[in-house]
Amino acid sequence: MGEAKRRKQDAFTPAQMARLEALVGEVYRRTRTGMAAAKAALDDAGRAAALVAIHAGTATQVGTLTDEFLATDPTGPAVRKSIACAKGCSFCCHANVEVTIIEAIAVAQRVATDPGLSESVLTIAPKVDGIPPWMRYDLRIPCPLLRDGACSIYDVRPRVCRAHVSYDVRLCEEVLTSGNSRSLAPMVTFGWPRTVSKAIGHGIVGALEHERVQSFTVEMTIAVETILRAPDSVARWLHGVSVFKPYGYASAERSSAPQREM
Ligand code: SF4
Repeated sequence: MGEAKRRKQDAFTPAQMARLEALVGEVYRRTRTGMAAAKAALDDAGRAAALVAIHAGTATQVGTLTDEFLATDPTGPAVRKSIACAKGCSFCCHANVEVTIIEAIAVAQRVATDPGLSESVLTIAPKVDGIPPWMRYDLRIPCPLLRDGACSIYDVRPRVCRAHVSYDVRLCEEVLTSGNSRSLAPMVTFGWPRTVSKAIGHGIVGALEHERVQSFTVEMTIAVETILRAPDSVARWLHGVSVFKPYGYASAERSSAPQREM
């Protein structure tokens, strides 16, 4: 199968599909183990450390499996040449960021150590609460964690941020600057990291469902704001209390703008 066709169909080999299936199971087990450690922890610091460790051990799989793909798949060299993403480019950091609650907690732990980032989250959260992704682009509302054109939490950034790999920087720019991102043609992004990210998300959500805690996905900025305003949110969530607001927005219309949604 030619590279273009593979990209378009996001078609993967049986071995690659088996790897994704195994990944869901690995992430599920890691999340269950981490949740048990968090529930057994004696204080907030212990709880946070156990949950941050789940994120650290799962989100990094996006990069690991993508490197594996590029090194072993016949399309790897051509895909690598086509990747447009580069340091200093942040057009896509104006998207809604749909994450699991585990990821939101990990990001919040980092943000809470930086008063400037905390302020940025508290300022931007009311502006993005419940708005569709295309509207966020059209209003050019940046991620509150974007600082001097770069991700300020790069090593703990969510899966979806790691998985968004563009083939055309001009389209990324157009989405942000057109003022009407819904009118643009759908973007083509590298399918493998997106699919790996989804597999990780399924593993985490499945484990959280089993733990009988809120397991739906959330918008990162909104969930981090919740934790910053009420640091006991994490302990309450672990006890099964409804703390977080599910990801969503009023309109059912979908956008062609690049998504960071599961
Ligand atoms: S978390 Fe980092 S990579 Fe993700 S949207 Fe925000 S600034 Fe960009």
